[in-house]
Amino acid sequence: MSDLADRLASVDAEIAATARAAGRERRELTRIVVTKFHPVSLVRELAELGVQDVGENRHQEAAAKAAELESLALRWHFVGQLQRNKARAVRAYAASVHSLDRAALADALHRAGDALPPLDVFLELNLTDDPARGGVDPDGVEHLTEHLLTLPSLRLRGVMAVASPGAEPRSEFARVRAASERVRAIAPDAVAISAGMSGDFREAILEGATHLRIGTAITGKRSTPG
Ligand SMILES: *Cc1c(COP(=O)(O)O)cnc(C)c1O
Repeated sequence: MSDLADRLASVDAEIAATARAAGRERRELTRIVVTKFHPVSLVRELAELGVQDVGENRHQEAAAKAAELESLALRWHFVGQLQRNKARAVRAYAASVHSLDRAALADALHRAGDALPPLDVFLELNLTDDPARGGVDPDGVEHLTEHLLTLPSLRLRGVMAVASPGAEPRSEFARVRAASERVRAIAPDAVAISAGMSGDFREAILEGATHLRIGTAITGKRSTPG
């Protein structure tokens, strides 16, 4: 088995074991492999190993990879900060946007999607005090949820978050679960929780995550930080 196949199998085994320990079904969980900074050849290899969901955080890189791998049945998840003027281009290849954090971006994505099937979006929470990190402030969750429900070309799946650096992951994901409940009080169908990365996906599963965004634990080290 290649190193990549090995790492994928070992992460998947941990996901399954953690789900079992949490009394959850493995099929409730979507494992997204974050391939940013890795070459198209690695994404192709992942596809050959049966991976269907891949994540990217930069529009130019994502668009180039999606175009080159158009013939493969991959779902592209956009997980990075997104500028409004890229909304149309991102809708052309993305199955979902996990980083929806403001009404203006939602409006731009909506306007770009008249003739397209609805785009899955996750409302990104900012768990830190640093506005530069992206994500909506906890205070703004209800307002943005209500706004998203007025945009028929977007389908609000749930919330997304990255644990704050240095914080205890389990308590971070407990906060995410609480925010998810607030969203669901307004949007009952928005049950998904996109949380958990290479270092903390186990804690995320224990706190109810449904979409895991896992990079380096599967892909190996990235050549550029990010
Ligand atoms: C890079 C990235 C990931 C994956 O990070 P790893 O630590 O490599 O697993 C997940 N989510 C987002 C938003 C990212 O930018």
